[in-house]
Amino acid sequence: MSLQGKTAIITGSNSGIGLGVAREFARAGVHVVLNSFSDRDEDHALAAGIAEEFGVQARYIKADMSKGEECRALIDLAGGCDILVNNAGIQHVAPIDEFPVNKWDAIIAINMNSAFHTMAAALPVMRQRGWGRVINIASAHGLRASPFKAAYVAAKHGVVGMTKSVALETAQEPITCNAVCPGYVLTPLVEAQIPDTMKEYNMTREEVEKNVLLTRQPSKEFATVEQLGGTALFLCSDAAAQITGTTISVDGGWTAV
Ligand code: NAD
Repeated sequence: MSLQGKTAIITGSNSGIGLGVAREFARAGVHVVLNSFSDRDEDHALAAGIAEEFGVQARYIKADMSKGEECRALIDLAGGCDILVNNAGIQHVAPIDEFPVNKWDAIIAINMNSAFHTMAAALPVMRQRGWGRVINIASAHGLRASPFKAAYVAAKHGVVGMTKSVALETAQEPITCNAVCPGYVLTPLVEAQIPDTMKEYNMTREEVEKNVLLTRQPSKEFATVEQLGGTALFLCSDAAAQITGTTISVDGGWTAV
């Protein structure tokens, strides 16, 4: 089945992995709906730039993925979709007894609950159209834990579990639901962790990259947003029609250990 002319909604896609996935979809002829919680000219300009570069339809729709009703409204405003990529996510690092409650709530809402709401709204439309692909961007932290990331690890394990349930609910339909589990990708989310870590361990940026961030990534290289876009595209291909309810790691070997 050709992907040309299909529509993908990618949550949290005005930067990083989401934007990378949107660009790879557009390159393949898929119309894309970009999203984040802001509503700046530059957000809309990103969509216009993709439309011009790849000759597809591209829109930017503001919706705050921490709010269930806005998650559902995003799907409605887009007129449904053939491909749903749940990618919006945030991080906060703190020991459990010092973890700010508002950060815990925000991580669970944005990284996990949003996928519940968008899937609930998008699946009926996929069923009507007779085809659908759901790709949940989880993390190596959906399969492994790290200290001080309890909320993120809980949310990402939750996403992996939810992915399996939805795959079973759609198993006899031409709809698949999978999770992609990246290791470290050098995006704004990871960039934001570097200055504090440099200070904390009195390290250079290079030392933080190699000795802290990539210690658990045996390849010692960051995964790229283009590689994640390619993985998402593969999950939309005919070759992947029987791949459902599983995780694909793009982590340089992290979860092999
Ligand atoms: P990023 O900060 O570049 O992108 C996060 C996106 O989510 C941004 O577009 C941001 O605007 C959006 N977002 C944040 N809060 C939102 C909200 N309330 N409503 C709507 N959108 C919101 O980070 P990234 O690294 O590209 O992360 C994307 C996803 O990939 C996240 O789910 C993250 O957990 C996951 N991930 C990232 C890495 C990594 O190393 N970068 C590794 C594993 C998993």
